Amino acid sequence: MSFELPRLPYAYDAFAPLLTAETFEYHHGKHHQAYVNNLNGLIPGTEFENADLVTMIKKAEGGIFNNAAQVWNHTFYFESFSKSGARQPSGTFSDALKEGFGSLESFKEQFTRAAATLFGSGWAWLVESEDGSLRILQESNAGNPLRQGLKPLLTCDVWEHAYYIDYRNRRPDYLKAFWEIVDWDIISSRYQ
Ligand code: MN
Repeated sequence: MSFELPRLPYAYDAFAPLLTAETFEYHHGKHHQAYVNNLNGLIPGTEFENADLVTMIKKAEGGIFNNAAQVWNHTFYFESFSKSGARQPSGTFSDALKEGFGSLESFKEQFTRAAATLFGSGWAWLVESEDGSLRILQESNAGNPLRQGLKPLLTCDVWEHAYYIDYRNRRPDYLKAFWEIVDWDIISSRYQ
């Protein structure tokens, strides 16, 4: 199987100046593309030659795991944003957030803290357990909760390449921008 870089559901300049076109040109056009290219170069002749990304995330190690997870993680991340999306969660997902974290504001504080304190490169995740309860996780490097049997609902990329062009070393300012562009209808629809 050969993988292709997914097209983004918005223009590169859709969220400027919060996240600029230059950030998307590098983050999607160069970094995400490189993970796709690396993966396509690694899998021929291996047991994963015809596998899908989730199978590789659950079973592969080393370079195949890293690149498959980075392809999936970036697609999931980029598909969480929209220009005119819902700014509040809805339905049963909204209820689960309140049950798990007290309120939307409290959830955002806890998720932001997880993203801000993650040492080095990685991803902050909101995941759903089998019983429908919600948890926040920190994963280093290409880490993905699917490997632990958990369902991802939301992720924030805290690799420096996600924010360095617009915010330099100021990860907390990037996290503020992140909340401005998350589409809660998309996140809500991933629940259950
Ligand atoms: Mn990234």
